[in-house]
Amino acid sequence: MIHPLKILFAVSEVAPFSKTGGLADVAAALPRALAAMGHDVRIVTPRYRGFAGSGERVASLRVASPLGPVGVDVVRVRLPGSSIPVYAVQDDRGWFDRDGLYQFQGRDFDDNLDRFAFFSRAVLDLPGAIDWTPDVVHCHDWQTALVPVYLQTRRRMNGSDASHPRTVLTVHNLGYQGTFPGEHFPATGLGWESFTPDGLEFYGRVNLLKGGLLAADVVTTVSPTYAREIQTEPYSHGLHGVLAARGTDLIGIINGIDVAEWNAARDPVLAASFSAAALDGKTACRDDLLRRLGLAPGPAPVLAMVTRLAYQKGVDLVVDLLPELLTLDLRVVILGTGDPAYEAALREWSAKAPERLAAVLRFDDALAHQVLAGADLFLMPSRYEPCGLSQLYAMRYGAVPVCHETGGLADTVVDYRPRSAREGRATGFLFRPCNADGLIRALQLALAVHCDRTAWRQLITAGMRADFGWERSAAEYVRVYRRALGRDRARHLTSP
Ligand code: ADP
Repeated sequence: MIHPLKILFAVSEVAPFSKTGGLADVAAALPRALAAMGHDVRIVTPRYRGFAGSGERVASLRVASPLGPVGVDVVRVRLPGSSIPVYAVQDDRGWFDRDGLYQFQGRDFDDNLDRFAFFSRAVLDLPGAIDWTPDVVHCHDWQTALVPVYLQTRRRMNGSDASHPRTVLTVHNLGYQGTFPGEHFPATGLGWESFTPDGLEFYGRVNLLKGGLLAADVVTTVSPTYAREIQTEPYSHGLHGVLAARGTDLIGIINGIDVAEWNAARDPVLAASFSAAALDGKTACRDDLLRRLGLAPGPAPVLAMVTRLAYQKGVDLVVDLLPELLTLDLRVVILGTGDPAYEAALREWSAKAPERLAAVLRFDDALAHQVLAGADLFLMPSRYEPCGLSQLYAMRYGAVPVCHETGGLADTVVDYRPRSAREGRATGFLFRPCNADGLIRALQLALAVHCDRTAWRQLITAGMRADFGWERSAAEYVRVYRRALGRDRARHLTSP
């Protein structure tokens, strides 16, 4: 390797310490892949209540905040399976010492702006406290979108200064932008001159993600198709103008998965092991799943979802289609939590057809593995999907995805068509547009192919053998970091 980089990941959740979704998986796996390439990667994250890790206190600092100085303890833990330090930030106001990361019982915390403005300031102060200066701070989503804004402000105040790190901001889901009432803007600690349409103001509200998108040196998102989609109105949640303005600085890089954690040949929670070359164990996993969830035994295909129960995920389509789905020769398994209305509907339907539909309404990692190992089909009718990890896990565990052709789903699932099937490249079924008709048609095609044992086996094994590891994507991120740094040199050459 020519020149190792020093990269600080500033992120609001990291598996296995804290997790609400795919971001936590990425925040653990990408640093591991970068460290394996020889880069010095470190992670900074809030220390929430129930943070699943303990370590030594390595620094105590006072972080400035509009509400007065905040006392902070920094505890260093190690990311499991690596030597990567994770700096867990704990404040003396108890901002992170609550149940829930961003919300509780479906309601966002009122002081999320205070919490994450504070955390972003702590990210800025951390390098001084641990005597380690990153080349690049890699920020993620609205929670750390203020970091590029603060660094840009500092850079403007001090003039061009090579010692300031460059910033990369990755958008994992544009549907969550961190918006707050305009009158709360002082909580950012920024001057009102930043509360303008070409800054953090967005239709009278504070929009943290928008600020970060404009201030970061390079912006990335988690698939090439999503990078294109979000520059168009239907997918942009209002930010298409901002994103289109970043143009060539907006890069789509598909997420990988942790292939050690998702390895059906050595997964301790599965009833039997299996692989693309030896699929028999999958049948045992399927029987185990049916038994475990009280579903009727038998050869009918198992259709599964493991998902946040949210409108984005097309859960309403599935709920509306349940009467029809339950007339098909299927067993349906839905593992998810979220919108209480969807939870109630699923509970009701599973009570009506307990042998055909199991709705497990909790967050359960082990069961997620068991569901995918036992499933034949995996349904993902997301209205939009930045990358999606679940379909990757599904393919890896031999569950064939049926997905809306959008974002990362379009980039990772090879649609079953005459040619892709003939060439043995097909890995799933895509439909477009995202509606009940499209979904049912794709599912019927999938069920027809399922009857052809040879064709089905080919579909399963193509998915299981596909390369979803992090190496390729990590190499692309390194190019992005170098691009952000190159920008630094270019600015210096042109500065007086
Ligand atoms: P998103 O991040 O938008 O929720 P992804 O597909 O990118 O969607 O990632 C979701 C992650 O959360 C996957 O690891 C999935 O298996 C996991 N997951 C979602 N709901 C549950 C649940 N109820 N139990 C266990 N794992 C879940």
